Amino acid sequence: MPIRLPFRPRRDSFPPDLWTKCPSCEEMLFNRQLDKAGRVCPNCGHHFRLPARERLGLLLDPGSFAERDAALQSVDPLGFVDQKPYPDRLAAAQLATGLREAAIWGVGRIEGRPVAIAVMDFGFMGGSMGAVVGEKVARAAEAAALERLPLVIVSASGGARMQEGTLALMQLAKTVSALERLRESRVPFISVLTDPTTGGVFASFAALGDVNIAEPNALIGFAGARVSAGTISQELPPGFQRAEFLFEHGFVDRVVPRADLRGELSRILGFLEPLQVADDVPGGFASPIPGFRPLSFLSTLGERLIPEAAPQNGRPASGQRQPVASSPDERGG
Ligand SMILES: [Zn+2]
Repeated sequence: MPIRLPFRPRRDSFPPDLWTKCPSCEEMLFNRQLDKAGRVCPNCGHHFRLPARERLGLLLDPGSFAERDAALQSVDPLGFVDQKPYPDRLAAAQLATGLREAAIWGVGRIEGRPVAIAVMDFGFMGGSMGAVVGEKVARAAEAAALERLPLVIVSASGGARMQEGTLALMQLAKTVSALERLRESRVPFISVLTDPTTGGVFASFAALGDVNIAEPNALIGFAGARVSAGTISQELPPGFQRAEFLFEHGFVDRVVPRADLRGELSRILGFLEPLQVADDVPGGFASPIPGFRPLSFLSTLGERLIPEAAPQNGRPASGQRQPVASSPDERGG
């Protein structure tokens, strides 16, 4: 019979996820404290990467978020296998993050102001953009245009998802054309670039905000430093892909610490109201356009390539842009 001791055995080991070492100041940080501080080092201000759900919690009014297209999920169109099959990688990422994909989008409020918001999660396969991430960003932009909600996109991505090959690269064109329609309908788009925003995401929607905000010291750029230096065969200055450098050179409008981000977004949203067009204007934005249906990437591209073909095949969307452009609310262009 085992002897029962009147005290608990001493714990020699602690759970490994109790502490995080700050990569900047090397201070050991208690995880619960770090979470409470929005994953910003209280000692030196280093901004750790933030999962998408926590980002939404940080930016939006409590309980205001309504997710859309939550069920969208990647398929494996190419049967891609590197060290592991792509579906296995997806399943592992889903288990690790509790997300279906590397982006979440929906509608919510920032200090009472309604927004459409899409947030990326670097923890899900490096925040890479495949067909689903691209589709979510495009749908967020389309819904923002239709419902006249300012759009906020928080990027954190290594770029296009190579496991989806060309289909991932096509997301660059798809997201950009959706944002172009958003711009045409005079609804603001605020892009928040967090660490890291690189590759195809920086090369498409992340750099296109009416206002581009970066978090301190975020890595922002297209290719890695070595590739960039090799391409132009020149030494590049230290920190040339960091938020502060990009701010000094005019590629980013503001560098805002995470704690101030929500207030800053609210302030900017107060300045940038979507243009409201009267109901009686033909094709006016205030009412949903009759017969409007979300455009697929290919049909839009077709319209752009052969503009004169658009009215003949009875597509309403491009025909309706005409009266809008000549509406009295149009100011310059
Ligand atoms: Zn630190």
